[in-house]
Amino acid sequence: MRNSEQNSAALTYDDVLLQPQYSEIRSRKDIDIGSNLGNGVSLTLPIFSSPMDTITGGRMAAAISIHGGAGIVHRYNTIEEQVLEVVNAYEFAGNNVPCIGAAIGISGDFLERATALISAGVDFLCIDVAHGHHILMKEALESVRSLTSDFHIMAGNVATLEGVNDLSDWGANSVRCNIGGGSICSTRVQTGHGLPGLQTIFECSKTDRDVAIIADGGIRNSGDIVKALAAGADAVMCGSLLAGTTETPGNVFEGENGIKFKSYRGMASKEAQMSWRGKYSSFEGVSSQVPYRGKVANILQDVERGLRSGFSYSGAYSLKELQSKAIFVRQTAAGLGESRTHINTRKW
Ligand code: IMP
Repeated sequence: MRNSEQNSAALTYDDVLLQPQYSEIRSRKDIDIGSNLGNGVSLTLPIFSSPMDTITGGRMAAAISIHGGAGIVHRYNTIEEQVLEVVNAYEFAGNNVPCIGAAIGISGDFLERATALISAGVDFLCIDVAHGHHILMKEALESVRSLTSDFHIMAGNVATLEGVNDLSDWGANSVRCNIGGGSICSTRVQTGHGLPGLQTIFECSKTDRDVAIIADGGIRNSGDIVKALAAGADAVMCGSLLAGTTETPGNVFEGENGIKFKSYRGMASKEAQMSWRGKYSSFEGVSSQVPYRGKVANILQDVERGLRSGFSYSGAYSLKELQSKAIFVRQTAAGLGESRTHINTRKW
C-alpha cells in the first residue's frame, strides 16, 4: 500500500489458529512431515538452525542434521575456521550426517569463502544478509551461481513476494522470509521497517517461481511451526527455539542461585558486531542470556511430536496436504488468553 491507502490487517502467529478438521489418520507415525526444498536439499524434519555465532557451529549442524533438519554454519570467523567447523560436523562421532549448510556474505571474501566451503563438501550455501532484496544480493547470487549451477543456494532475508521472485530469478533455490521478526531483533524499532511474520509467509508463498519458502524468525514452539507450514512455508528457521542447548557455540555460565545459562545474541547487536569486526555501526539486535537447556535432541524430539500432532488435527498426511486443507481463523485477545495455558494467571 502507499501511505494514502487503507491497509488490511497484517497477521502474525498469535493472531490466528488452525481449525481442527476430520481426520482418518490412525497413527501419527503414518504422517510424513518432511519437505523437499529442491536442488539437493530434502529434510525429514523441516527445520534449519540459524547461521548465528551463538546457534550454529559444527556441533549444532551435526546434531540437527542427524535429526532430519539442517544447520547453517555461521560465517562470523575466518574462512579456515568455518571450513574446520564444516569438516568437524561431517566427521562428528562417525554419525551419518546427511545435510549441512554454511553461510557467506555479499562482499569482501564471500566468493573465496563460497569456493572453500563447496570444496569442503557443504550440501548448500546460504547467502546471509539482513536486507536481501538488494542489488548487492543480485550481484552476489549471480557470482556464486556462476561457480556452480547444480547446487542449492539459499538467500535472504526478504519480506515481500517481489523479493522472493527477484531472488529466485537471480539464482536462489530457497529464500528466507521475514524482516524484523526475530526474538533478538530490533530492526522494526530501529528502522520502522518490517512485516508481521505470518503475513510475510502468506504473501511470499504466492510465488509462481520454483523456489522454497523458509519462515525465519519469531518461531517459539511447534504450534508456530505448524502455522508457518500451513501458511505456505516449506521449512522454518529457528534461533531462540534452539538457543541455550549443549550444541550451541559458547560456554555455560552459572549465575546467582546456581542457575545455568548461555548467551544468545542477534548478529547485528552491538556485542556481536564488536566481537566479529571490532566496531559497530547501525545495530539492529540485542544480546541476551537464555537458560541452559541440555541436549538439543530433547527439543527436536518434542518439536517433531508437536508437528505430527499438528498435521493430524488438520487431517493431513503430508506438508502439501496440510497446505491445501488448512483453515485459518482469527482469534481475539480473549481467544489468545484462552489459547495459552491459563491456570497460573487465574484469580481464585
Ligand atoms: P528467532 O528464531 O526468533 O530467535 O530469530 C532468529 C532469526 O533472527 C535469524 O534466523 C535471523 O533471520 C534473525 N536475526 C539474527 N540476528 C539478528 C539481528 O541482530 N537483528 C535482526 N534479526 C536477526
